[in-house]
Amino acid sequence: MDELSHPPRLGVFGGTFNPVHLGHMIMAQDAMEAFDLSRVMFVPCACPPHKSDAGLAPAAHRLAMLEAAIEGDLRFEVSDLELQRGGISYTIDTLRAVAADHPGVELYFIIGADSLVELHLWREIEALLGLCRIVTIARPGVNLDALQAKDIKLRDPWPGQIQAAIRIGHLMNVSSTDIRYRVAEGMSIRYLVPPGVDMYIAEHSLYRR
Ligand code: ATP
Repeated sequence: MDELSHPPRLGVFGGTFNPVHLGHMIMAQDAMEAFDLSRVMFVPCACPPHKSDAGLAPAAHRLAMLEAAIEGDLRFEVSDLELQRGGISYTIDTLRAVAADHPGVELYFIIGADSLVELHLWREIEALLGLCRIVTIARPGVNLDALQAKDIKLRDPWPGQIQAAIRIGHLMNVSSTDIRYRVAEGMSIRYLVPPGVDMYIAEHSLYRR
């Protein structure tokens, strides 16, 4: 689609980013290209609502690693909105704040395919769907061929709309869990995280046993 034929589109990418890895970076780029986004804003959460926070690196480190990851890439930005707000990070609160700060901009919330079947558990999900378009990037281990509209446990028309915004992308088999495991085991994480993130983890002795 011609870039001038629609209002500016901002991708919002929420996550724990503990730490950010190449899967995150490439899915942000895939989503950008698939939906003609102008920019992507990475938003690290303070406390994730649906995950244990055991092993969660302090917010300042996760933020600094994101800043190192996007350094020099003007398409990407990092927001500390959820860290400043503190407590459990609900996406609806974040999107309301981002929408208020970006009038006239269409918001695209980027998720990985593993988050798709949990969407119905998200706080005020229908209000959230009214504020943004959810775009899903495939993830190895999540069988999208078997996914049916009824697996997205939301009222019509949302399952159909959400399914229509699934993209395969580069299918990166990388997770933060694996990165943390590799660091704890003394294995290399080179090529799995941006070089600045690799250096930051080493310098600050993060994720060691
Ligand atoms: P962890 O292993 O600690 O659970 P994670 O690697 O899933 O972490 P998060 O920061 O929790 O990373 O992910 C933020 C978002 O990015 C989620 O929507 C998740 O589904 C998505 N995501 C993360 N890694 C990938 C990947 N390799 N491919 C597709 N989506 C991904």
